[in-house]
Amino acid sequence: MTTQEYIVAQQEASSHGSPCEENTRLLNTFTEAVTELALFHEQQFMAVVSGDAQLYRFDELILDATERRQQAKYAYLDHVNIHGC
Ligand SMILES: [Zn+2]
Repeated sequence: MTTQEYIVAQQEASSHGSPCEENTRLLNTFTEAVTELALFHEQQFMAVVSGDAQLYRFDELILDATERRQQAKYAYLDHVNIHGC
């Protein structure tokens, strides 16, 4: 393998082997959205268990968080499809 071939092989490996910056950012956003949704579900569960009359306020929060999670998921999947990273 020549030096030039080696450099090309390294570039190939880095472009296919590890996700790009945007990929990492989108995946982080998705992970945060999933975590947030899980938190609201837990808080609503605690409200139900403790007989909190305010438990329905979580419905809207959960709907919003579900929407954000969906958007983050499709943004990530679209990026991976288009970019191939
Ligand atoms: Zn990418």
